[in-house]
Amino acid sequence: MNISTETILNNLNDDQAAAVTTEAQNALVLAGAGSGKTRVLVHRIAWLIGAEFISPYSILAVTFTNKAAAEMRNRIAYMLKQDVNNLWIGTFHSIALRLLQIHTEVAKLPKNFQILDSDDQYRLIRRCLGDLELDEKQWPPRAIQGFINDNKNEGLRADEIENFGDFNTQTLTKIYQQYENHCQRAGLVDFAEMLLRAHELLLNNDQLLHKYQMRFSHILVDEFQDTNNIQSAFIQLLAGKNNKLFVVGDDDQSIYAWRGAKVDHILDFQNLNNNTALYKLEQNYRSTQNILDAANGVIEHNKNRLGKRLWSAQEQGDKINIYGAHSEFDEAFYVGEAIEQLLRDTIRADEIAILYRSNAQSRLLEETLIKRQIPYQIYGGLRFFERMEIKDVMAYARLVNNRHDDIGFERVINTPTRGMGLKTLNMIRNHAQINQTSLWQSAISLVKSGSLSNRAASSFTAFCSMIDELDNNHQDQILSHLFHDIIERSALKDHYLKEPPEKAQTRLENLDELINAAETHQISDEDAALGLSPLASFLAAVSLDAGDRDNEDEPHVQLMTLHSAKGLEFPIVFMVGMEQGLFPHQNSMEDFNKLQEERRLCYVGITRTEKKLFMSYATSRRLRGKITPCQPSQFLREIPNQLVQQQRGNIHPARHHRQIIDSASPYQQQIQPNTDTPYHIGQTVHHASFGEGVITDMSGKGDYLQVLVQFNQVGPKVLAAKFAKLSTN
Ligand code: ATP
Ligand code: MG
Repeated sequence: MNISTETILNNLNDDQAAAVTTEAQNALVLAGAGSGKTRVLVHRIAWLIGAEFISPYSILAVTFTNKAAAEMRNRIAYMLKQDVNNLWIGTFHSIALRLLQIHTEVAKLPKNFQILDSDDQYRLIRRCLGDLELDEKQWPPRAIQGFINDNKNEGLRADEIENFGDFNTQTLTKIYQQYENHCQRAGLVDFAEMLLRAHELLLNNDQLLHKYQMRFSHILVDEFQDTNNIQSAFIQLLAGKNNKLFVVGDDDQSIYAWRGAKVDHILDFQNLNNNTALYKLEQNYRSTQNILDAANGVIEHNKNRLGKRLWSAQEQGDKINIYGAHSEFDEAFYVGEAIEQLLRDTIRADEIAILYRSNAQSRLLEETLIKRQIPYQIYGGLRFFERMEIKDVMAYARLVNNRHDDIGFERVINTPTRGMGLKTLNMIRNHAQINQTSLWQSAISLVKSGSLSNRAASSFTAFCSMIDELDNNHQDQILSHLFHDIIERSALKDHYLKEPPEKAQTRLENLDELINAAETHQISDEDAALGLSPLASFLAAVSLDAGDRDNEDEPHVQLMTLHSAKGLEFPIVFMVGMEQGLFPHQNSMEDFNKLQEERRLCYVGITRTEKKLFMSYATSRRLRGKITPCQPSQFLREIPNQLVQQQRGNIHPARHHRQIIDSASPYQQQIQPNTDTPYHIGQTVHHASFGEGVITDMSGKGDYLQVLVQFNQVGPKVLAAKFAKLSTN
């Protein structure tokens, strides 16, 4: 054995080494999180090149992200001490795209074909509806987008769809066909098309298929549990009868069913591919035993699992911290404080990840980190105030604040589209340039002088009156009302609602969160001294935060959604917003299969942790502008009690010291009413002067009972129950 093969096997346990050196034609490595699946895949590639002398050119490897692909390539090169540039490694999409680029002609695409992103696709669908004279209300473009993409994921072209004489399906298919024609004429390829067309490219061209089957003697796939039908078909086609397939995955981590992924592919793999050796890895190298036990405790509640248990040779480790906050602020404060403490304890910022279910949850966490000057990054996404929908609404707000804000003007004058196209905008720009005025001013002059087309002029006049009205209606100076009005009146909401459902949902959640941000904005003493209006103060605070860029090179705390955390690992993990409705997500709670997928997502989250896991929930949270009582996530209850250390937020809202309460799981009991008192946490109460609110914490007994109430209008107050005269109907 030469040096490199030794290094390849050195750091593997026996089961891993057996998989890496398998002589079976096909291999399925089916194993739980952190058991070294990705490592085995990487070492397998190195083994093929270093020990079996397979050329990197003959290997195709599929990863879940392009970043992972780059890291793997480096890792392999490092192990083998040779470059492996001609190893083909990437995501399904990047591989498919490359095939199409190489074979444009056979794929019947123009040389300079363009990629259509989801927005472009949506717009094109609307155009097709126009061509066919179909009403968008009856045929909502985003439903059609779903129809087209779902069918492409299943490998179906418009002319292959069975309609069984059903009018609805017939029409949908007609639109699909129209869309296909358009794309074909203009040389456009959407994301689902990449996969479908790459598959067809090989399926319909024996010569090409033969060529690639001859080339890729070895095909390897990571995260196989999340492949959809067309991806699976593509792999099987390339593999043919003779090539060697090596796939790794974990049925418990399948989290993309909503995009067409099917865990069945992993289950069927052995049936589809003769001569498959099955490898199971049971030792987990990532996490402490407590973390694994917690993860196992949760995932055991799922049905129809293949079932596997993980063990760790590591120490038992710390218990899992579960923090019950009394509000979302308390939660964010707690996370910020804990991170500060960790950083003082010489943990590096990039060893810490904060995971959340919905994108919009990042806002308060970002605010906390900015305040504490802790550098952070949103992994695979944008910071809250950089997100498109937020910038759009903020641009309207800027115009309400100051009509001469050209940046705001440029951004929203035609968003959503209102017939102020590029030509009109250029006229306005030129006129402004010549006359040294703002765009707003210049547009007004052009309307007056009759220089704009009738359509543009009337559209601008309507736009002007909308901004003026928003301003006039804002005399009450209540920021959340203003933002609410902007979102409604600007028609932005309807505009986003036309996008594909998940995207639209995320945007609307972000907009709700923006209203929360406006509602809870506090004018600083400096701003008040300067006489800034609430709006001006809010706009200033947002732009200051945005401008405050930390040094890119220093380590950053990583913030991300649970979905984008797949495959990653961190010494310290925070899972926030562990509440019913947030996680499991509102949309998934009622449906058995969706709930199971949420649970797998929870399993993915927990198993990202190496050493220390912090989970938190709030007993009340501002949702859509209203303080709402929340119940702890059912997943928390599924973690065995002895693994958990409970902490509760301090009842006094002004102080943020917390004490450890080691009674058994308050989150398991608090939903029950407290029998000693007429009150319980989560209860809606009414106070003569403070109005309506929700009890989020209680302490003391009898005459000394104190309750913490989050009032809708005046925020949190601690009250002595005996005197507060709270009514509870
Ligand atoms: P996931 O299911 O989350 O994708 P995985 O099964 O792909 O996890 P890896 O990411 O490959 O697991 O491995 C988890 C961690 O354990 C990594 O840090 C890896 O380097 C380490 N590891 C795996 N096998 C060994 C081993 N034999 N010796 C030491 N460390 C190992
Ligand atoms: Mg992995």
